[in-house]
Amino acid sequence: MSSSATAGARSYQNFVNGKWQGAISGKTFPVYDPSTEEIIAQVAAADGADVDRAVQAARAAFDSGPWPLATAQDRGRVLFKLAEKIRQNSAALAELECRNTGKPIVEAEYDIADVATCFEYYGGLATKVTGHVNPVPANALSFTLREPVGVAGQIIPWNYPLLMAAWKLAPAIAAGCTCVLKPAEQTPLTALECANYFEEAGLPPGVINIVNGFGETAGSALVAHPGVDKIAFTGSAAVGKIIVKSAADTLKRVTLELGGKSPNVFFADADWEAAVDGALFGVFINQGEVCSAGSRILVEKKIYSKFVEAMTEKAKRIKLGPPLERETKMGPLVSKEQYDRVSSYLEIGKKEAKTAIGGGRPKQIGKGYYLEPTIFYDVDNNARISREEIFGPVASVIPFEGEPDAIRIANDTPYGLAGAVWTRDIYKAFRVVKSLRAGIIWVNHMQPTYVEAPWGGYKQSGFGRELGPWGLEEYLETKQVFVNLDETPIGWY
Ligand code: ADP
Ligand code: MG
Repeated sequence: MSSSATAGARSYQNFVNGKWQGAISGKTFPVYDPSTEEIIAQVAAADGADVDRAVQAARAAFDSGPWPLATAQDRGRVLFKLAEKIRQNSAALAELECRNTGKPIVEAEYDIADVATCFEYYGGLATKVTGHVNPVPANALSFTLREPVGVAGQIIPWNYPLLMAAWKLAPAIAAGCTCVLKPAEQTPLTALECANYFEEAGLPPGVINIVNGFGETAGSALVAHPGVDKIAFTGSAAVGKIIVKSAADTLKRVTLELGGKSPNVFFADADWEAAVDGALFGVFINQGEVCSAGSRILVEKKIYSKFVEAMTEKAKRIKLGPPLERETKMGPLVSKEQYDRVSSYLEIGKKEAKTAIGGGRPKQIGKGYYLEPTIFYDVDNNARISREEIFGPVASVIPFEGEPDAIRIANDTPYGLAGAVWTRDIYKAFRVVKSLRAGIIWVNHMQPTYVEAPWGGYKQSGFGRELGPWGLEEYLETKQVFVNLDETPIGWY
């Protein structure tokens, strides 16, 4: 069986070694629609024993069987086929993503299209992996082979569920790895649906396994398992630190894409309308549940008051509502836990700064984990709402006086995932680009993300890069081969 629709709520098992399997303990957990607060699925809850079974399957598929014999072309075709299946089912997948996360349907549609594009990109890249010939002396030949790193444990968050799965699965498959994916416990449904495509796409059993469950049980068991060669993680900095410590015991390779408190910097000479839009889009897209959210809005003093006013006026027009309605610009937060977490920051913010708009639950809405888009202004960069990642629709607007001050404030954060600068002056724009300590910088925009370009952070936003050739590199080992061309004995003894 795959998945079944029973009385409105579906049920899903773990996908291990090409088969659907219940948890060994028999336990399940509920998955919710955050706009109605209703249960939409029951999912098998993996613990250490289930994770062990999945790792064994991935290990066996990596060490023997048809997968190690698959050519780069074969692996590329698997990825193209997965992309095709995702495109064929994109409407249903977008709807499921929308219902499970609460994100607006229009954004979910973009996400699913990006998922297919990601599989296509790495399908093409699979056949472009090459080694080097190294310039050693004439009596020898040295070259490098690129080989898959092995079994990859992949732990992903709930804000872009299927897209985060694609960013990790696609390069791993292109490289020839096998995978154990653990989706976020809040949002496993779209990845599980895609497991139904694996066989038809040509994936042998055990190449991609999916275990459902909580971080403290399923996630931590995956990180500790000696059969796993690499952990790729996207999530909170707090969990990133736990993962690095645990992975040290088996010296796994680790890549981390963690949180941020990214500065979105507006100079007085920026294009006014584009800037006001960009400030709002940068922080309120996907309800602000974005690791690269432009949650610190730095505005030059000359335009500061007018800018806060203009943002506030425009923010009034952001349409909150049911995520499946096409006019909706913001849906609910993903879970009760996240709603409570962001609500507590709203209370902190009201004490630390002035509130331009928002600050709580929208009045007209009954059920669902909705929070208003909230703009705090006159915020000190040392305030908690400026330093801590909130992961919700909460903006801190901070004034600055001139370029050096902007750079100083922008970099005064433990994080370094992203940043943006808005100005018509190209000299200033590129000076700021070079000064910001972050992995992704946008000029006169914020958030566009392409599979062809690298993604990842400086400082406590993690290490390693996803997407582009950089993303594939993280799933490859380098083997150096030395060939002696000189037939005379070494003559050592
Ligand atoms: P949030 O708190 O917003 O849910 P997390 O960083 O906790 O963000 O979650 C991101 C992913 O990390 C999820 O898949 C979650 O299950 C997983 N996770 C949480 N705690 C751990 C842990 N101790 N070890 C491994 N994975 C974890
Ligand atoms: Mg957590």
